[in-house]
Amino acid sequence: MTNTPCFAAQSAATPLGPFTIERRDPGPNDVQMDILYCGVCHSDLHLARNEWQNTEYPIVPGHEIIGRVVNVGKQVKSFNAGDLAAVGCMVDSCRTCEDCKDGLEQYCQTGATFTYNSPDQYTGKRTYGGYSTQIVVNKDFVLHVSEKLDPAAAAPLLCAGITTYSPLRHWNVSKGDKVGIVGLGGLGHMGVKIAHAMGANVVLFTTSPGKTADAKRLGADEVIISKNPAEMQKHASSFDFILNTVAAPHNLDAYLELLKRDGTLCLVGLPEHPHPAPDAGNLIFKRRQLVGSLIGGIKETQEMLDFCARHNINSNIEIIPIQKINEAYERMLNKDVKYRFVIDMASLK
Ligand code: NAP
Ligand code: ZN
Ligand code: ZN
Repeated sequence: MTNTPCFAAQSAATPLGPFTIERRDPGPNDVQMDILYCGVCHSDLHLARNEWQNTEYPIVPGHEIIGRVVNVGKQVKSFNAGDLAAVGCMVDSCRTCEDCKDGLEQYCQTGATFTYNSPDQYTGKRTYGGYSTQIVVNKDFVLHVSEKLDPAAAAPLLCAGITTYSPLRHWNVSKGDKVGIVGLGGLGHMGVKIAHAMGANVVLFTTSPGKTADAKRLGADEVIISKNPAEMQKHASSFDFILNTVAAPHNLDAYLELLKRDGTLCLVGLPEHPHPAPDAGNLIFKRRQLVGSLIGGIKETQEMLDFCARHNINSNIEIIPIQKINEAYERMLNKDVKYRFVIDMASLK
């Protein structure tokens, strides 16, 4: 066991602060990494504050992890000390159920082991995430990162990147499709970049008029201020696919009405309180689909990292020392993040 400095929340009402956890010694199939950078996802905030009512304390958030391999177990051939490597939202799963066999470990029937706030099979405690200096993970849940990508700006690909890439791929977004992205935060700005790289005609919906110019620079062909009903109406029944990343409850009919026949509205944002139920007529009369999607499988995460390296896609980030994490959470709640905070873990050493 190695004592490992980290930042943890001790209750829903207390800010995150310095703490120490124990990491296991690497076993034959493990990879041990020194964490260089960890992105800050809105899910970290939801969970640190128990907004999904399933948090066990202490909690060490962080699932957008980039690091250097320092040690590998005897059976590990795919990683070597010195490699740039990454860990995303999961560190294990049952590996035998239909979903795991399909490479969709996030839907594992016995529950994937998430990077933090999951039962830890090795320690009997909880898994602890990336707001820490090092981590030990089974090799099958560690990703390769191209040296072409800037390691700090690549960190958010591990959640924001895969959570937007996976549904865009699954619902076959392709060249010329009219695709909406709702919300220009961490997920949304990755959605804009990835959908643009897939050749879609990208429309960004935002509540923040000040983000218009940025959205266009990031790859949006058009920007709609979602609070303006006249602007929304101009696009009625015209979208093939809309990806909704908003972290707060809102009226989904406003987006369902913009879909063509057979169009799809996919939710990835998971607010603390539910959205008001949409009007069934908005689904029925144009055979529209309302769907959801959870992160992405390991194989697909590697595919996304390689896609991003090929297309030179990174996240737009603001690097912070870990001591600023509570302030960063407040700014995230105020939609004041451009467009992902990334913690420089050197600040914890
Ligand atoms: P974020 O950086 O805070 O971005 C959310 C964006 O939504 C904001 O920047 C804002 O964009 C918009 N927004 C926020 N409050 C709003 C409101 N009241 N009304 C309308 N728009 C609002 O968050 P994130 O890290 O991208 O995460 C977004 C959500 O996805 C969170 O709920 C998170 O837990 C969830 N998530 C889900 C998965 C999954 O697997 N499904 C994975 C990761 C995260 P504008 O300023 O442009 O309006
Ligand atoms: Zn996340
Ligand atoms: Zn499984």
